[in-house]
Amino acid sequence: MKIIGTEILIDNNGPFFVGKHHMVFLKVYTDEGIYGLGEPIVYGLGVPAVAEYLKELSKVIIGEDPFNTEKIWHRLHNGWETLGGPVTVSALSAIDIALWDIKGKALGVPVYKLLGGKVRDKVPVYLSHIEFGYPDTDKPPFTAEEFGEVAKKARSDGYRIVKASFIKNDDKGNINPIDRYRAFSPDFIKLIGERMRAIQEGLGPDGEIIIENNALTGPEDAVRIAEAAKGCNISFFEEPISPEHIDQMKYVEEKTNFAIATGERAPTRAGLLPFLKNASVRIWMPDVSNTGGITEFKKVADLAESFGVGISSHTCGGPVNQAASIQLGAVIHNFHSHEHHVHTINKYNFKYGKYKYEAKDGYLDVPELPGIGQEISEDVIDLFDVYKVGEVQG
Ligand code: MG
Repeated sequence: MKIIGTEILIDNNGPFFVGKHHMVFLKVYTDEGIYGLGEPIVYGLGVPAVAEYLKELSKVIIGEDPFNTEKIWHRLHNGWETLGGPVTVSALSAIDIALWDIKGKALGVPVYKLLGGKVRDKVPVYLSHIEFGYPDTDKPPFTAEEFGEVAKKARSDGYRIVKASFIKNDDKGNINPIDRYRAFSPDFIKLIGERMRAIQEGLGPDGEIIIENNALTGPEDAVRIAEAAKGCNISFFEEPISPEHIDQMKYVEEKTNFAIATGERAPTRAGLLPFLKNASVRIWMPDVSNTGGITEFKKVADLAESFGVGISSHTCGGPVNQAASIQLGAVIHNFHSHEHHVHTINKYNFKYGKYKYEAKDGYLDVPELPGIGQEISEDVIDLFDVYKVGEVQG
């Protein structure tokens, strides 16, 4: 089997702001009439760059056997001395996911069967970023009471764990100016604590909260936010500070009682290793669409496990990203959770996938379809601008 060409599909109709993703997908075609689907993850303004880079990488993989994922991965990662930038690794990730999809389809098996088989029948999932609103992302919560109502709705839909950022808006919806080097006011820290307790109450006593700082605060505010969470069940504290400041991450870890998590913007094993060495994280959050695809995600997870660190899939892209992540969630032993971002499952973004993987009682079923278990929905196909490289077969 040989790769003969690719299509890069970009939905240029969507706005670049958060809420409606700027979808990009990749189709890799073979001479046996089988194609694979991939999806890179670069948010907002990086989308045109990753699409352009995919066009160039497509030329390199034409003629290759799609089963040779190790060889192709190393060629694409190491071939031009670019290594691990967000655009290059996202493009590589999309290609790798598509190749695994081809392997599964060619052999007539879901990808999880090619990765060691299932260690669990259902993948645990949490609801993510409820500060954008749920179920309606047009109505974000601002007051503690509103956060509590959203949590109650999430719990009634089966989510026992929810994630929220508490720092973006004040209780009237005004955007909070965030500065890593200036402390939040005591009143704002108090509001954060009230929001957390309202969520805990909305979820019930066995509910858990993931605190998300999106790498936007400095160490002192991160510690104050952790202190505001007293009395709540905290699953982990995500990106309390920027992962660029690895020694400060250790400081935050020592000052809080929570597992610290990062990983969504530190691709490949090379991104993980410094955090293992300084023991500052207990949950690593790779995204299959920017850590290096299925090939690298599995290696990242195995490396983390050898240091006693768990994996929570970062997934806030489109349906191909979701499906590939579910396959990995089924096979990774040290797996904590899969992310269901409110924007991934909202009315704008959920429609792109033919197969809808919805949470049931806090879990996702693992697709039994050959490959990763996703196709682009016929309903959205006209939204895309399509760039062809080499030969393609419909
Ligand atoms: Mg995050």
